Amino acid sequence: MVLAQLGGSISRALQQMSNATIIDEKVLNECLNEITRALLQADVQFKLVRDMTTNIKKIVNLDDLAAGHNKRRIIQQAVFNELCKILDPGKPSFTPKKGKPSVVMFVGLQGSGKTTTCTKYAYYHQKKGWKPALVCADTFRAGAFDQLKQNATKAKIPFYGSYTESDPVRIAAEGVETFKKENCDLIIVDTSGRHKQEAALFEEMRQVSEATEPDLVIFVMDSSIGQAAFDQAQAFKQSVAVGAVIVTKMDGHAKGGGALSAVAATKSPVIFIGTGEHMDEFEVFDVKPFVSRLLG
Ligand code: GDP
Repeated sequence: MVLAQLGGSISRALQQMSNATIIDEKVLNECLNEITRALLQADVQFKLVRDMTTNIKKIVNLDDLAAGHNKRRIIQQAVFNELCKILDPGKPSFTPKKGKPSVVMFVGLQGSGKTTTCTKYAYYHQKKGWKPALVCADTFRAGAFDQLKQNATKAKIPFYGSYTESDPVRIAAEGVETFKKENCDLIIVDTSGRHKQEAALFEEMRQVSEATEPDLVIFVMDSSIGQAAFDQAQAFKQSVAVGAVIVTKMDGHAKGGGALSAVAATKSPVIFIGTGEHMDEFEVFDVKPFVSRLLG
């Protein structure tokens, strides 16, 4: 994971600073410039990085620090806190309750890993004794239903879809209805992704959401999309009430910084990360351990 490289660069910057005999404004600025470079290289949005360094400079007032204080530790703590702050929008996402029916709608661009993530999410809960079900409301991509069906069958999760119906809104509504009658407690709606952010896609998301009244909308984002993360996440948030984010492909060469942008754009927390193509390569996301790992 390239996150480790980022952690390395940040740790190095802090180490260099702590090697300096006196930590003055110049040394602090050099250190923050190094950290800025590392975060930008990791695809963290420029504005987020700039705001973060401004905050750190405000918090760490070198003149006020009494002699003998461990300035390096203070700065390191400030960097840690600021990164945590970016990743923590301040309110937890809606959490479905076992035994109580919830509808969870997944949105994201084609190729982001949405269908794979829907199954992982279902499988994760099934292992904990839930009764999940999958609805394929992607009528746009040929083969989408087959893919979901294959995944669902492998995990022994009930599924709903159609080879002939072309209206995604209708399928979504029918699927949710069917599984509510079957007392499923986690009804997962997989939606179309298209190739790019386009008006028709967002209109479709709005209609599917209206028809299924999801308790939670999860935005799925490929961690390798880099600086495009903020705009993409914001575009989805403007059409549907995104309440949580899942970042996929964290096992690859992704730089991870897009996760920070997605949180900032949607004001929603990252709840899981995808770490591989297999069903169980899926981890609960925790801000503090993630940032600790990031800082090395
Ligand atoms: P969708 O178009 O958004 O539904 O995307 P898919 O679920 O079809 O995934 C696109 C590709 O990404 C597939 O080849 C998946 O196996 C792969 N993929 C999904 N999530 C992950 C992940 O966390 N790690 C890796 N390495 N590959 C993933």
